[in-house]
Amino acid sequence: MRRKLVVANRKMNGNLQTNKAFLEGLITGTRGYSNADYVVCVPHPYLFQAQAILKDSSIAWGGQNMSRYQSGAYTGSVSPNMLIEFGCEYVIIGHSERRQRGFDTDLSTGERFEVATKAGLKPIFCMGETLAEYEEGLTDIVTIRQLNAVIHEIGVLGLSGGILAYEPVWAIGTGKAATPEHAQNVLSFLRGHIEILDAELAQNIRILYGGSVNATNAAKLFSMPDIDGALVGGASLNTDEFLAICRAANNA
Ligand code: PEP
Repeated sequence: MRRKLVVANRKMNGNLQTNKAFLEGLITGTRGYSNADYVVCVPHPYLFQAQAILKDSSIAWGGQNMSRYQSGAYTGSVSPNMLIEFGCEYVIIGHSERRQRGFDTDLSTGERFEVATKAGLKPIFCMGETLAEYEEGLTDIVTIRQLNAVIHEIGVLGLSGGILAYEPVWAIGTGKAATPEHAQNVLSFLRGHIEILDAELAQNIRILYGGSVNATNAAKLFSMPDIDGALVGGASLNTDEFLAICRAANNA
């Protein structure tokens, strides 16, 4: 039985004051929601704060990106060990907001998935098609290409160290979430692809849906058999709304 997982992707938002209110609200608000797991991915400068506030709680935290290198002349980058030094358990890899700006490619995401797991981090690997690709019926082809880039790098069993997230680009930040049926179909397809390679892993790996998840649609999404939780952007900026999504995961 896979536990539901809800991940807040706070993107480039927040400040010391609003983060504090959110993180403390989360600790208090998720007490009693012990059936699911919760993670907060904050901008790198706030990892110290996240660690200080969350360290004795059941809520984990992570970075939103990571270099494939451990140190060196990579101005502006953050290494896996730096994330680990600040207590990160997770790191988002291959978010479409980075892929679209050319910072992440299939090759670089595969490489960094491997580097992250070897360093002891759990990558949250994002896949998803653009609106044009969706309209052309290319969802399966695009997501499999993105997933295979990782499998090619680390082998299918290497996926076991991470989390997968299907995030259609057209649903991110648009308020137009995929229908639970569409998300379920894609996740079932991705799980089926993994199953061909390793049946046990397919049963155990957590696959999230992301894209305009909110307090209203979360419960229906979480009722789908292959949706193991959510990656949440905009709704993670409102503590009450995010807590409602956590409650839906707990009750699913
Ligand atoms: C995201 O950026 O990962 C995301 C899912 O954003 P939103 O929830 O705002 O669509």
